Amino acid sequence: MTMLAAEERLIKPHGGQLVDRTGHRPDNVEALEVLTLTSREVSDLDLLACGALSPLEGFMGREDYHSVVEEMHLAGGLPWALPVCLAVDTQPKGDVVALADESGRLLATLEVEDAYGYSRELEAERCFRTTDEAHPGVARLYAQQRWYVAGKVTVFERPQLPFPELAFDPADTRIAFAKRGWRRVVGFQTRNPIHRAHEYLTKVALETVDGLLIHPLVGDTKSDDVPVDTRVECYRVLVDGYYPYDRVLVSAFPAAMRYAGPREAIWHAICRKNYGCSHFIVGRDHAGVGDYYGTYDAQLIFDEFEPHELDIEPMFFEHSFWCRKCGSMASTKTCPHDTGEHVVLSGTKVRELLAAGELPPVEFSRPEVAKVLIDAYRS
Ligand SMILES: [Zn+2]
Repeated sequence: MTMLAAEERLIKPHGGQLVDRTGHRPDNVEALEVLTLTSREVSDLDLLACGALSPLEGFMGREDYHSVVEEMHLAGGLPWALPVCLAVDTQPKGDVVALADESGRLLATLEVEDAYGYSRELEAERCFRTTDEAHPGVARLYAQQRWYVAGKVTVFERPQLPFPELAFDPADTRIAFAKRGWRRVVGFQTRNPIHRAHEYLTKVALETVDGLLIHPLVGDTKSDDVPVDTRVECYRVLVDGYYPYDRVLVSAFPAAMRYAGPREAIWHAICRKNYGCSHFIVGRDHAGVGDYYGTYDAQLIFDEFEPHELDIEPMFFEHSFWCRKCGSMASTKTCPHDTGEHVVLSGTKVRELLAAGELPPVEFSRPEVAKVLIDAYRS
């Protein structure tokens, strides 16, 4: 089979075509009006550039925005869960503007199609299901400028990832999957080190498909999440020691966390479809924060779409644990024993152990992973 034929067997991108909004730096870019992007908007810009947000070609106009906020669909009818918008303090004057990061580095141009006001409270209520400013996603939204500016982007300067060897765009992961002969691929979103529980569910999922994409989010997270370089080292030692080399790919997902819980689970799934994943793991409280979302909300929201409307297939999981009686990893779905038989440690307890230089039980965490975390705590 040719490579093209192998790629054709993968799931189609959302909307049918992988978008590419990279391009050359125009000669006149220095003369253009400059809009400065927040780090989250820079992450979105990079996702737009590489087609991870296909079919979007730029920041959303008002029709798409209102349709997404109210109906979870783009104006044209495709499912879409979260706004991808660029907030500005004044409406731009020119037809084309330059986009820069907070250091002033020019990244892209935007063909201005629209500028419109919006209600932060309404967006918070619909997208985050709360208007509480203690929610990190709502806090970011409330700190935004008053206008959204919409239009196609052309990106000539991509942000440098801290791990260039993990920087696979959707076109790259699709080629990587095709080269390995994978057709059905499950994506796993993570922003934390992988302990035995997550190793278990990724492997249970992998048993039913051809390949696994471990896709850690490397854009902005809350300051108390584990730093990205430590997490990446954890993934390396875990995959090297415990996964077959030809069945797993670790690659960085350059998105920033929004902490929008259920809606972000849909958004994450659609992005992974663009990377070539046919399946997507959704655990309990996916992309949640605090207690803003019910345990199963991020799974139940998939029912709000017609069958096959999303195309990518969610795989729902319970919390899992080592059961001493079963003598294996299990979950409440598969183990009948008393919780006293289960090796379950709170996040606080794990942090205490690691900070004290002690390995958690091997039933909870692979020692190689725990050692990376202990070293990180000590430095
Ligand atoms: Zn059991």
